[in-house]
Amino acid sequence: MTRPYVSLPSKPYLSPPGADSARSLYIDGSWRAAADGAVREVLDPADATVLTVVSEGGPEDARAAVAAARRAFDRGDWSRGPAAERGALLHRIADLLQRDRAEIALMESLDTGKTLIEGGIDVDDVTAVFRYYAGLADKDAGRLVAAPEGVHSRVVYEPVGVCAMITPWNYPLLQLSWKMAPAIAAGATMVAKPSEVTPVTTCKLVELCAEAGVPDGVVNLVLGGGPGAGGPLVDSPDVDLVSFTGGLETGRGIMAAAAATVKKVALELGGKNPNIVFPDVDLDTAVDYAMSAAYFHSGQVCSAGARIIVHEDVHDAFTAELARRADRVRLGRGTDEGVRCGPLVSAEHRAKVEAAVARGIEEGAVLAAGGRRPDEPGLEQGFFYRPTLFTGCHRGMDIVRREVFGPVATVETFRTEAEAVELGNDTDYGLAGAVWTGDTARGERVAAALRHGTVWINDFGPYFPGAEWGGFKRSGVGRELGPAGLDEYREAKHIYRNLAPAPQRWFA
Ligand code: NAD
Repeated sequence: MTRPYVSLPSKPYLSPPGADSARSLYIDGSWRAAADGAVREVLDPADATVLTVVSEGGPEDARAAVAAARRAFDRGDWSRGPAAERGALLHRIADLLQRDRAEIALMESLDTGKTLIEGGIDVDDVTAVFRYYAGLADKDAGRLVAAPEGVHSRVVYEPVGVCAMITPWNYPLLQLSWKMAPAIAAGATMVAKPSEVTPVTTCKLVELCAEAGVPDGVVNLVLGGGPGAGGPLVDSPDVDLVSFTGGLETGRGIMAAAAATVKKVALELGGKNPNIVFPDVDLDTAVDYAMSAAYFHSGQVCSAGARIIVHEDVHDAFTAELARRADRVRLGRGTDEGVRCGPLVSAEHRAKVEAAVARGIEEGAVLAAGGRRPDEPGLEQGFFYRPTLFTGCHRGMDIVRREVFGPVATVETFRTEAEAVELGNDTDYGLAGAVWTGDTARGERVAAALRHGTVWINDFGPYFPGAEWGGFKRSGVGRELGPAGLDEYREAKHIYRNLAPAPQRWFA
């Protein structure tokens, strides 16, 4: 394995390995150190070396960031300013993302372990999200409501207020953009709190917002651990909305904590997403997509197709080919040519994946591929894990029911369409699913019957900025992207005007 051919570009918010100070918090328009001077080392998951050192914020920093966002919101010039100007600002951010595409892709690859190609795809996807909300910013200010004579009634949309945006480590740039772009379009102000494991591109995005001209205090950034830096945001009475993407247990805790101040909560949680394969498809294509669905970004994808449900007639051929291809996947540093799977994000996360695989073996699932760390030289220090396939699975197994969030797929079989649908819906989650069939009507029937926020027919994975994304059941609350993704950051207000006020004499 080669060292990264370029090191992280020097930035005001990134300090070199070994540094004992950093200025990585962005509050009220300036980069600053944590109040207590604390720092955190960010590791390169491909070799466990220190990539950079950043500030480790705590409660005091979180409170300062909320106060800045509150002041910026209450000042009114931003929140009540022209929506078209906020749209133009979003276009400028999109332009800057494209200007710095290569640099951002590299940062994301080094920080998360994903391949450089995936890092570039993320930048393009994020750019499209900023452009989508740029277009939507001034398109829908409200509506007239039918009212009796003498009354003027209208509903107007206003920004929700101060938003806390708490994001995970698998798509740091992308997940924040799904929140930040509509929040800017709506005129909200915000405090971003990325995962402590992968803060680098969030800093970069905040830097670009400032360069694009986002006013001081509108976008603030606090880095740090979940309870230390994120908890105070959730508890703060000055925060109006918490938008969270991450794990189910964390989301549950955030929802409960937010209840104390009855603030709005938007949650994008996990998934255990069925990929249903009928026998009337081209198997080569279905296997090919099943590979990407399960192992893209080493399976660290909320919508990963980790639960394969295949018709019994094609089960043997399907799984043999899938296992063969899983065993051939080239692992390595995400910046190396030809690598398809990078490392898992951290040693702790790999330990969780390994525990889940061990549990699967104990429950009687049959290991058809992987189930171990790679033995290629050069990968020993990184957090690598081989693409893993379990066959002989059934819905009662833990390995089938729980999200592993790693390169681990299970295979179950079905006989009838009804059984396939029943299996596909037999999960606590409801984020995404796919159906593969040559029968158009069957594809539509199954798509209609699946209780998941996104269903793909003969595909797996694509999303559009204009189409809502989110979960049924325990996969979340609310929607991101699309018009509904903007509504999360707006309040609807009914304004009723009596055109001819006169005494009513209800009381004598
Ligand atoms: P996580 O829940 O551990 O952490 C997510 C964020 O929450 C981090 O920023 C963390 O610091 C913060 N946090 C942790 N405890 C907190 C607390 N008590 N108060 C406030 N903030 C706290 O999740 P993760 O391990 O970073 O990410 C993996 C999870 O994210 C998976 O379950 C995955 O399915 C989910 N995910 C969902 C989507 C989606 O769109 N539905 C997208 C990506 C990831």
